[in-house]
Amino acid sequence: TEVVYLITAGEVIDSLAAVVRELVENSLDAGATRIVVSLWPQQWRITVADNGCGMNLEDLEKAATTHSTSKIYSSADLWKISSLGFRGEALHSLTNLASLEILSRPANENFGWRVTYSEAGKAERVEIAAIAPGTVVTVSNLFANCPARRQGLPALAQQMKAVQATIQQIALCHPHVNWQIRQNDREWFAIYPATSLKQLLPQFIPQVKAADLQEVKLAIPQPENSELLLVVGLPDRCHRHRPDWVRVAFNGRMVKSPELEQTILTAFHRTLPRDRYPVCLLHLLIAPDQINWNRNPAKTEIYLNEVTYWQEQVNQAIEQALRLSSA
Ligand code: ADP
Ligand code: MG
Repeated sequence: TEVVYLITAGEVIDSLAAVVRELVENSLDAGATRIVVSLWPQQWRITVADNGCGMNLEDLEKAATTHSTSKIYSSADLWKISSLGFRGEALHSLTNLASLEILSRPANENFGWRVTYSEAGKAERVEIAAIAPGTVVTVSNLFANCPARRQGLPALAQQMKAVQATIQQIALCHPHVNWQIRQNDREWFAIYPATSLKQLLPQFIPQVKAADLQEVKLAIPQPENSELLLVVGLPDRCHRHRPDWVRVAFNGRMVKSPELEQTILTAFHRTLPRDRYPVCLLHLLIAPDQINWNRNPAKTEIYLNEVTYWQEQVNQAIEQALRLSSA
């Protein structure tokens, strides 16, 4: 019951973007390398199709029951989470907030199943389905039974901006994934897979080319084999009149870390002339017990243990990257 209590606390599905985030993170947890997100915002309908590991019928039937997760086992594990999802609540909540249908087929099966779920998250209709290996989740009539929630949301155009930002943030942490995003049955945007962050970044900052960027990867032995990945823009080729582009991610998730963002900006501004703007993506892979994700419920902002230690590491990495840039 302790686990149940902890995981309920973080629950937030309050927008189209939040639905997209939950479904896409499930696809990534399932090892997908190809993800197609289709949105019909006027109909409050979203489909996420992936080529991940899929679910067999038994798993499909219980996927939306309460606290159903294949991802945690004890409350101690909550602090060691490396996969993105860990609450076992997203699909269940969606059965309360929308209609949910899942098609899925594991790679070692010849066919898949289509399951629709009742409001309580029980498998309602089950039929055989001919689909490619992977999973297709469809959420429709989102918030139909809570009109106040729909009314409280911004205009659809603005919500779609939030959807785009959400997908881009997630994609930045998963360069090997091929993303196709569709709106009202038309291609909206795509993000192509890349062999490195440096190769990926120009898709997000059009003025910057991979050749303008330096990538530094540092192994940090303390604590427990951490890794620091840094991509920085070559200062003397950075375009003027563009705002700072600074992003921070931890263990595969884009976050706000005001302390580290400040460290990055300060390190750049020590080196750069006033009229230049930094481009910097910092990705830290560190032991989960160094991070407290509960700065806010959506886990978009974190507290870091030993923050001054990490600020120092980041400082050194930036100096190294900037030395490489000017070499
Ligand atoms: P969580 O992700 O926290 O485990 P969810 O409610 O999001 O909880 O999903 C419940 C379970 O359904 C997951 O643990 C996983 O086993 C399965 N699942 C959901 N989406 C997918 C998917 N796209 N591919 C494979 N399995 C999935
Ligand atoms: Mg999940």
